[in-house]
Amino acid sequence: MPDRNVDALIVGGGAAGAACAEALHEGGFGGAVLLVGREPDPPYERPPASKGYLAGTQDRDACLFHDAAWYSQRSIELASRTSVMRLDTAARTATLSNKEVVGFGVALVATGANVRRLRVEGGQLQGVHYLRALGNADAIRADAREAERVVVVGGSYIACEVAATLTALGRHCTMVMLEDAPLSTHFGATAGEFFGALLREHGVELVTGDGLERLEGGSDTSSSGTDDRVRRVICASGRELAADMVVMGTGAMPDVMLARAAGLELGESGGVACAADLETSVRGIWAAGDMCEYDSVLHGGRVRIEHHEVARAQGAAVAAAMLGARRPYSELPYFWSDLSDWCTAEWVGITETPEREVVRGSVQDGAFSVLQLAGGRLVAALSVGRDEDLAHARRLISARTDLSDHAAELAGGDLDAL
Ligand SMILES: Cc1cc2nc3c(=O)[nH]c(=O)nc-3n(C[C@H](O)[C@H](O)[C@H](O)COP(=O)(O)OP(=O)(O)OC[C@H]3O[C@@H](n4cnc5c(N)ncnc54)[C@H](O)[C@@H]3O)c2cc1C
Repeated sequence: MPDRNVDALIVGGGAAGAACAEALHEGGFGGAVLLVGREPDPPYERPPASKGYLAGTQDRDACLFHDAAWYSQRSIELASRTSVMRLDTAARTATLSNKEVVGFGVALVATGANVRRLRVEGGQLQGVHYLRALGNADAIRADAREAERVVVVGGSYIACEVAATLTALGRHCTMVMLEDAPLSTHFGATAGEFFGALLREHGVELVTGDGLERLEGGSDTSSSGTDDRVRRVICASGRELAADMVVMGTGAMPDVMLARAAGLELGESGGVACAADLETSVRGIWAAGDMCEYDSVLHGGRVRIEHHEVARAQGAAVAAAMLGARRPYSELPYFWSDLSDWCTAEWVGITETPEREVVRGSVQDGAFSVLQLAGGRLVAALSVGRDEDLAHARRLISARTDLSDHAAELAGGDLDAL
């Protein structure tokens, strides 16, 4: 027997969980809502953890979606520093870390993702950081105060943002990445060259096409003696880089520990398998955000997307379903990245493997869009300083417009006409 019952249970106090709670309130959900999150803070935005919050220009409160009072004033019970330890989908109960057993009517599982930890020699040395939570950003900022040389491992957006932020704080940053150019895996070669040049221009050193072999501690060149702090990064090529600290930007893995133990069906990318309306294999239990692998009507197959705005939109869509408005989730994914205040890149799209690229504007001047096409249709667009292109791209991608005969308009002409 449960100790008590709620009508809606939200597991995970991140972007998706908070958006679901907000939308339930806005939609007039009359029942009891319990939002359980294991972190000490009320739900907050993660993007500032590699940008303004890491830089020290945005304080902790400004990262919160709402303060704790906002939830209590709306009769949303917020259980921070609390984990759901077990989900019994047959009995429809959740066992919390405070031993309470809570019965629920409907539930959202939005447990997000964990950093992908590299099993590498020296990975446990002091000064080696991963970044997922505000607490990690606190530790990186504190360590960076003392560090002169920072090595950032990875070439994706978190690695680039951390390198940009710490460089702007006066640290000397070197990035080590497998890619030929930063951000090229997601945004293509042209964009990669642009971001590479931008980072170099601001003093970031780039080691491309190389991997991490091991980390070494040992003798500190600035003082005497040895310690268990990281001092050197050894690359797969044999190159050695001096380092006082290392930040690993090596990706994230969906956190499905609870879902797997509860018997929810998992998908191929390791997320929780969901139908088009984000419902899991158990009726009345939905998933959203980084761990949700759903049947996308837009993509024509199962996808899992790790973007802030997607997590928010999916959380809201689940609230709508809980309120009785079930429909396929079909929002076009949107993503942005800030490299310090050097540039903001925005992306919309449905695939990351295009057949060809068309560039509008001037890459050299830092105002351009890369339109990515497949099968004659626009499938994605990256834009730096050209918002108007992004708006057109949204329209053209959603309408699945055949652009095979419109090379001139795409390259520089009026997109309005298409
Ligand atoms: C440093 C950083 C920068 C980023 N920048 C951008 C950006 O610029 N643009 C962009 O689009 N995206 C960005 N992202 C990605 C974006 O933040 C994520 O896609 C988004 O946070 C996903 O939201 P979520 O709710 O699925 O998961 P999360 O935000 O990870 O929330 C899940 C929560 O569930 C909790 N939880 C897990 N298991 C349990 C349990 N059993 N019981 C209770 N609670 C549990 C976790 O502790 C966590 O707090 C960034 C991510 C990071 C880490």
